[in-house]
Amino acid sequence: MGKPTGFMEFKRLNKDEIKVEERIKNFNDFHISFDLNIQRQQASRCMNCGVPFCQSAMKVNNRNVGCPLSNLIPEWNHLIYLGLYEEAYKRLEMTAPFPEFTGNVCPALCEACCSCSIHDDAVGIKANELFLIEEAYKNGWIKPNKNIKRNGKRVAVIGSGPSGLSCAKKLNDNGFSVTVYEKSDRFGGLLMYGIPNMKLEKHIIERRINLLKEEGIVFIKNTKIGKDLSMSKLQSSFDDIVFACGTSAPRPLVCKGCDADGILYAVDFLKETTKDLLEEKDFKYNLKDKNVIIVGGGDTANDCCGTAAREQAKSVIELEITKEPPQNNTLPWPNYPNKKKTDYGVYECNTVYGKDIRKYETTIDEVIKDEHNHIVGVKSKKVKFENGKIVDIPDTKEYFDCDYLIIAMGFLGTSDRDAKEYNMITNRNRILLHDFNYEDNIYVCGDMKNGQSLVVVAIKDGMDCANKIIEKYR
Ligand SMILES: Cc1cc2nc3c(=O)[nH]c(=O)nc-3n(C[C@H](O)[C@H](O)[C@H](O)COP(=O)(O)OP(=O)(O)OC[C@H]3O[C@@H](n4cnc5c(N)ncnc54)[C@H](O)[C@@H]3O)c2cc1C
Ligand code: SF4
Ligand code: SF4
Repeated sequence: MGKPTGFMEFKRLNKDEIKVEERIKNFNDFHISFDLNIQRQQASRCMNCGVPFCQSAMKVNNRNVGCPLSNLIPEWNHLIYLGLYEEAYKRLEMTAPFPEFTGNVCPALCEACCSCSIHDDAVGIKANELFLIEEAYKNGWIKPNKNIKRNGKRVAVIGSGPSGLSCAKKLNDNGFSVTVYEKSDRFGGLLMYGIPNMKLEKHIIERRINLLKEEGIVFIKNTKIGKDLSMSKLQSSFDDIVFACGTSAPRPLVCKGCDADGILYAVDFLKETTKDLLEEKDFKYNLKDKNVIIVGGGDTANDCCGTAAREQAKSVIELEITKEPPQNNTLPWPNYPNKKKTDYGVYECNTVYGKDIRKYETTIDEVIKDEHNHIVGVKSKKVKFENGKIVDIPDTKEYFDCDYLIIAMGFLGTSDRDAKEYNMITNRNRILLHDFNYEDNIYVCGDMKNGQSLVVVAIKDGMDCANKIIEKYR
């Protein structure tokens, strides 16, 4: 299978990107697709390994290794190389319900453990996945299945993020009548109101939701379960209820002055920005000519950096509590690499502001505010980890002007207030329900069950949850 010498003949190519100075003028996707010949060459680099680690869905050192969906990667790589794109897509759709989401935002756990990456660069699997799904939409290979035979069972899915959507799709495909309830004014969870438009354009989510509607799933928005619709009403109307509500409680900043105005949680900021963009309104949180400090060093902080660059902030600084990662990978294959990454948003800020905006082993010591309780600056401090504890390093305080402080320090889980509304209880923000509860009809999946994770993990978890319900009625 494949082109036996492809991996020796062709170097991995990454998609070209629009230059920073140009792309920050808007919030559009800035990647430039390969032409067909290049795409085929890239697919031909796949060695069709006897043991394809890329699709292995394993855990090594408690981290995901290989595609959690076990996508049939060598098979579709080969079919792309042959130019049999529709057949390749048919292999992809067997395991991946929403390749247009993962093809855009997945950190490509498959590529980290591709055997090619032991001696060279990994096969560009994620780009192949996105190519296939976009070809499928373009050529009309995706058709809504409108002839599903119903089994008389009704399921309510609460939350329309990736886990809720994958659970709903799997149940619907298997004859269940599914209603998805969403508290927000748009569907998609963090795909819609978390991940910014330049990473996942929002029409892509709407395109999939429309397909799911055509296949018979009912979508109801602006309805918060526990508030707008009671749990008891839901219990009496449905056979089973799936909670896919994500993690609602962000990790807070605790320091002197942390009640100041101008301190925002990252998801609130990103959500409002996307909403304003879609509704063509002025930004509620306008960072233009403002000094912005972002606390946190993960995906969310990076998305805030990209957004701040587009809003023409005067300055952006990112504070990361962790040590600066090494430049070269320190972990042996097939572990997910441990090395310093500069993702798109930080890269854009580094380019615009002419220096690396990241300060490692640094956090906020105090927020300084004016007489109107608005933030005007912050004092930072250096810290280090000692025996698993964070310890301040004396005499390291530094002052920065700051008009907006954005908190991107991760999520704790489900808030107690939300849990109360669902008639559930939490222990340290985790819902106290064992994974899948066969005794009654309540199920939990996605980030709400596992804590903050990845889109691909949420999709897999939603499908696993659906499988448990399907099994129950076999
Ligand atoms: C800013 C940001 C960027 C990210 N970037 C990436 C990335 O690049 N790649 C990646 O793989 N992962 C990324 N993630 C993580 C990823 O988005 C999540 O792991 C994933 O969305 C979790 O899916 P979910 O379905 O469990 O929950 P969510 O996507 O959080 O969806 C939960 C939904 O439930 C709704 N809801 C909650 N309570 C109720 C209620 N009572 N009634 C009705 N509806 C309710 C919410 O409004 C929401 O729409 C990012 C996360 C953030 C915050
Ligand atoms: S979903 Fe993610 S891990 Fe799986 S094949 Fe696609 S990019 Fe790779
Ligand atoms: S590990 Fe890499 S080279 Fe091997 S089958 Fe998977 S994608 Fe192809």
